[in-house]
Amino acid sequence: MRNKLFSHVKRVVIKIGSGVISTDAGLDRDRLAAIAEDICGLLNKGLEVILVSSGAVAAGKGQLGITGRPQTIPQKQAAAAIGQTRIIRGYKETFMAHDYNVAQVLLTRDDLSNRRRYLNARNTMSTLLEYGVTPIVNENDTVVVEEIRFGDNDNLSALVTGLVEADLLIILSDVDGLYDSNPFDNPQAELIPVVERVTAAIEAMGSSPTGTLGTGGMLTKLKAAKKAALSGVGTLVVNGRRTHVLQQVFAGEEIGTYFLPARSKLTAKKQWIAFSKKPRGKLLIDEGGQQAVIKRGKSLLPAGICGVDGGFERGDAVRLCDLDGKEFARGVVSYSLTETLKIMGKQCAEIEALLGYKYRDEVVDRDDLVLTVEGEEET
Ligand code: GLU
Repeated sequence: MRNKLFSHVKRVVIKIGSGVISTDAGLDRDRLAAIAEDICGLLNKGLEVILVSSGAVAAGKGQLGITGRPQTIPQKQAAAAIGQTRIIRGYKETFMAHDYNVAQVLLTRDDLSNRRRYLNARNTMSTLLEYGVTPIVNENDTVVVEEIRFGDNDNLSALVTGLVEADLLIILSDVDGLYDSNPFDNPQAELIPVVERVTAAIEAMGSSPTGTLGTGGMLTKLKAAKKAALSGVGTLVVNGRRTHVLQQVFAGEEIGTYFLPARSKLTAKKQWIAFSKKPRGKLLIDEGGQQAVIKRGKSLLPAGICGVDGGFERGDAVRLCDLDGKEFARGVVSYSLTETLKIMGKQCAEIEALLGYKYRDEVVDRDDLVLTVEGEEET
């Protein structure tokens, strides 16, 4: 069955966790080389691969004499700067032995939040793939500060999956997949082979603690799978420490947990609004406005807005919230905060008189609006 599932795959994003290619002692060069070897095997079969590799911090911290997790952000950033060169060198050596080239792509959240930079990153990646070069992506750890972090590479890999319009996301982890309870506490825990939809109940199963090497845990993988699903892509979470795991996956072996893609997928622009663009404020929407947006698939008009928060400009993303402040949608505004304050609660026919001009009736047009994924919080 897996065989058939993956037979359509032409472009795959493979995320490699820190716990897969490193140990407490630092980079595990042999494991990295073995995975790189298998990836070259996929390239030989005509697949296009985009790697999202963690492991920079884990590979560099030893050089700074750090054991365990680095305690300060500068320590982490310094370790990443050292380790990043090592992981890239590791991949490059194996790829070159097979006559393939790699390229390093370091991204920050701001890069994907800005539409022009997002499209630019997309063009660069497609150009690399056209030239048969495998992009190796990581967060630009040396420059990021807390507010502009992706947070974890599971999230980054889901965004990259949408960015390059891949057909499959594979997350190589240090566990076998999703279990119905924490396998470290419960020896009876059972692996779940297929997840149709990441619901709150599924998320509860994934709330196991984070390991010491990466920043993820199962929960971040579930969130990544949820995003990929909405981009129309399935996600396989599988143990990257298994020998020749990628060969087994493409041979159709039933390993890991496969998360199915959603039945209807968001357009590329809506994916960007939902997952990449950073919201700059909140609109509080009354009951009637909520009904129109959620139930009737309408745009948001000024009449439905009863409160605002934040310092957004025209073209920024905002959260649409109910009267308790709970987000139910996200969208791009046609009016700034100052303008919205003047027109909120009013009829469309009054906009021109209130502002002296009018861009359009909608404060958030339906084409720029995405209903928030169930249970999703800040992205
Ligand atoms: N970017 C970090 C690194 O390469 C890892 C982030 C993560 O573990 O998800 O070390």
